[in-house]
Amino acid sequence: MEYVVSACLAGCNCRYDGGNTANEHVQQLIREGRALPLCPEQLGGFPTPRTPFELKNGRAISKDGVDITEQMLQGVEEATKLVELAGCTKAILKSRSPSCGAGIIYDGSFSGVKIAGNGLFAERMLAMGLEVTCTD
Ligand code: SF4
Repeated sequence: MEYVVSACLAGCNCRYDGGNTANEHVQQLIREGRALPLCPEQLGGFPTPRTPFELKNGRAISKDGVDITEQMLQGVEEATKLVELAGCTKAILKSRSPSCGAGIIYDGSFSGVKIAGNGLFAERMLAMGLEVTCTD
C-alpha cells in the first residue's frame, strides 16, 4: 500500500467532534486501492466524540486538563503496526491535528494559536522515513 491517510480525510466520522474532513483526492486514492485510512486516536481507544487535546511541552493534554499522553502513544503504536504491515511509504494527514498534523500544530492553549511542530502520529511517520504531506 502506497499511502497511509488520516481516516477523517477519507470521510470517516472519527474527529473529536464526531465529524469528518472528507477530501476528494484522499477518497480517490482509497478507491484506487492505494491508501490505508486509519485514525490513531480511535486506535488508542478514545471514544468519538471525545474531549479534544493539544500538545504542550511534548505531552498530550486534554481540554479538561488530563494528561492522556500514554493512551495516545498506544494509538500511535497500533497505527504504526498497520502502516508497517501495509508497507506504506507516503502519508497524507490532516493538517494541524495534535495526532496527524505535520509542520504546524496548535500551541496547547486551546486558543487557536499555531506553532511549528508535529503531531504524535505524524512525528512517528516522519521518523520512519515516510514522505508526509498534510491537507484539510
Ligand atoms: Fe483521527 Fe488523525 Fe483525523 Fe484526528 S486528524 S480524527 S487523529 S485521523
